Amino acid sequence: MSAHVLVINAGSSSLKYSLVEAASGEAAASGLVERIGEERSHHVHSGPKGEYDDERPIANHEAALEAAVQAFETQGPALADVDIVAVGHRVVHGGDRFAAPALVDDELIAAVTDLVPLAPLHNPANLEGIEVARRLLPDLPHVAVFDTAFHQTLPPYAYTYAVPSEWLASYGIRRYGFHGTSHSFVSEQAAKLLGRDPSEVNVIVLHLGNGCSAAAIRGGRSVDTSMGLTPLEGLVMGTRSGDLDPAIHGHLARVAGWSAEETDRALNSESGLKGITGANDFREVSRRRAAGDEQAQLGFDIYCHRIKKYIGAYYAVLGTVDAIVFTAGVGQHSSEVRAAALHNLTALGIHLDLDRNANPAQSKGFVSTDDSPVAVLVIPTNEEWQIARQAVAVIRAS
Ligand code: ADP
Repeated sequence: MSAHVLVINAGSSSLKYSLVEAASGEAAASGLVERIGEERSHHVHSGPKGEYDDERPIANHEAALEAAVQAFETQGPALADVDIVAVGHRVVHGGDRFAAPALVDDELIAAVTDLVPLAPLHNPANLEGIEVARRLLPDLPHVAVFDTAFHQTLPPYAYTYAVPSEWLASYGIRRYGFHGTSHSFVSEQAAKLLGRDPSEVNVIVLHLGNGCSAAAIRGGRSVDTSMGLTPLEGLVMGTRSGDLDPAIHGHLARVAGWSAEETDRALNSESGLKGITGANDFREVSRRRAAGDEQAQLGFDIYCHRIKKYIGAYYAVLGTVDAIVFTAGVGQHSSEVRAAALHNLTALGIHLDLDRNANPAQSKGFVSTDDSPVAVLVIPTNEEWQIARQAVAVIRAS
């Protein structure tokens, strides 16, 4: 039987898992435990014997993983019957310590713990996931795959903020970038679709999900990306503002008496599409916009204008661009966003084909015209598969 990887993505109150065949990306089963620690936790599991959907209290991540193992027994496939070669863990922040995925050992856990101040919401949850999985599945190698690692190739002039230079040494303040697993996956797929080696192509990737980020990728290496020290910077997102004047923090402290935490929370949870339109889900924004809601139209325009600015910026950074790739929920499904973000860019060699854009699957993901100098591609991201492939590569190299 071919090698499978159990991929685990532990959030603060959730545990997402998927049993992925590393060679094909096929998921033998997958599931999600949400609202961990609440009275009505929710567990869904989908396997070869069917769907399991239950609401009951699940106290902590250990109980959540035990419930997952149980669901593998009842809904399949039984873990003992599958050739599982590793457990792959998504870890959000690897700082400048991790430029590649790595085998989990006590030293790695200590390093990820040291990075908690850079990702106070995410890294503790990721660590919790690693610790319970190591306890429950002690005989398997565990591999950590970092969201930041792919962007460790950024040159110093792209990752350094123009602030007093001792802030980097004292507080780790620099651009790290996120969504690296997705950016690396879709940029490799883009090279495949173009029939070329990744080392030969320059790509701009727009990952537009709940969180959104852009990356400039030269010859398979990330050379700039829009998220920064944290995932707040860059594009407009569901609830995050993206780029803004850093003086807003101080201004709100003076005129409204807001603490740093209050402003942080508002910029991360009450801003972006939600702040402008009242809705963070893009489908709802689209519905409201179609019904003539002016704030929904404004939110859409701000969102697309920001994407267009990053396309221009990254075009200039790369010099030549072979493809622009749209991925994740909005990127894959919203033809309107793609059309608005790419409107009037023919002078840059970007020619969208409106019929293809309306139905990318019919043209293998190509939504540009055949003679467009820059290809425009819609490529579904698959972070679980990328984590599985990287986990296998790590254990084969160790
Ligand atoms: P995450 O970042 O949590 O992985 P996704 O990649 O699933 O998120 O993207 C979620 C976003 O994609 C939501 O804003 C959702 O409204 C949007 N989305 C999903 N399907 C569609 C669709 N058919 N049209 C437009 N937007 C969509």
